[in-house]
Amino acid sequence: MRWSRLRRRRAMGHSGPLDCAAAATLLQEYLDSELEPGHARRVAEHLEVCRRCGLSAETYRSIRSSLERSQQAPADALDRLRHFADHVADQPPGIASSDA
Ligand SMILES: [Zn+2]
Repeated sequence: MRWSRLRRRRAMGHSGPLDCAAAATLLQEYLDSELEPGHARRVAEHLEVCRRCGLSAETYRSIRSSLERSQQAPADALDRLRHFADHVADQPPGIASSDA
């Protein structure tokens, strides 16, 4: 079973809270301000309540600001991000909750 396609459909198919996988999928576009406002708001709401995704967003931001200063992105941040993406990709869809 491939979750990624289901995830995206789930994420955009209803108006409930995003799950972590959907937030991860949309995070880069969110930080690039490429999401439409409704989606961006839902990502923002998820980042508010989900510590794990909030940290991921911070990591993205630090990479982006490094790149904007024409510095090399910090290797540890890239590793964390890669690990995060792999980890989320292995999980079935679910709403972020208790221990997130
Ligand atoms: Zn999350």
